[in-house]
Amino acid sequence: MHILIIGASRGIGLGLVREFAGRGWSVTGTVRRPVDEAAVIEAGGTPALLDMTDRAAVQDLQGHIGPIDILCINAGVSEPADPDAATLGTFFDTNALAPVDLARAFLDRIVAGGTLAFMSSRMGSVALNTRGDLPLYRASKAALNSLTRSLVAGLDRPLRVITLHPGWVQTDMGGAGADLDVPTSARGLADVLMAPRPAGSVFLDYAGAELAW
Ligand code: NAP
Repeated sequence: MHILIIGASRGIGLGLVREFAGRGWSVTGTVRRPVDEAAVIEAGGTPALLDMTDRAAVQDLQGHIGPIDILCINAGVSEPADPDAATLGTFFDTNALAPVDLARAFLDRIVAGGTLAFMSSRMGSVALNTRGDLPLYRASKAALNSLTRSLVAGLDRPLRVITLHPGWVQTDMGGAGADLDVPTSARGLADVLMAPRPAGSVFLDYAGAELAW
């Protein structure tokens, strides 16, 4: 079984490399810089170089990758401070547009019965947004969720598509005070990704609980 994890240099992505490799899977993990390849190798995966926002690089990787049982698009960035228009563009591209473009490019690499997963966030839920903090991050993940639903609506074959919330996790993004360590989140996410379920899209947290869109 083969999983491709986009954004595997550190944090939850690297935790997923370690978790799936430990379960005996063949794992390809993408990193942006050659210096980060060693972390993926140490965790038991095979590194590939990719900046997800570089569409030509996405096409190039697509041409070099074999069949995938799970495509997990994990890469994301946190709320920018005082962004100008260019920064905002890159931010929304990274969190919302590029993941869905990448998914589209790799659809025919996902085997029948395979799974496509996006790392979103509970903060991307419009229905659950009662606090309003980190408004741009929330909006970017809400956009990701909406674009994902549009992708799924237009699919010409049945596919399992899972929008994930990893919990609040102790990473560079989540901070040291977060609820969960990376192994706990990664273990739960792997269980969710491997559980049998019908085709169609669903929004689940790391413990398998369904979230409102
Ligand atoms: P992290 O520690 O900041 O790691 C982010 C990862 O995304 C890194 O591997 C980073 O690579 C990669 N990345 C960023 N931009 C990229 C790009 N353009 N192309 C390819 N890779 C890129 O964050 P994390 O906490 O592990 O978060 C992982 C995902 O979970 C994100 O989508 C995040 O929004 C989501 N999430 C996290 C939490 C939390 O509590 N931590 C909660 C909800 C959702 P570099 O090392 O090259 O920067």
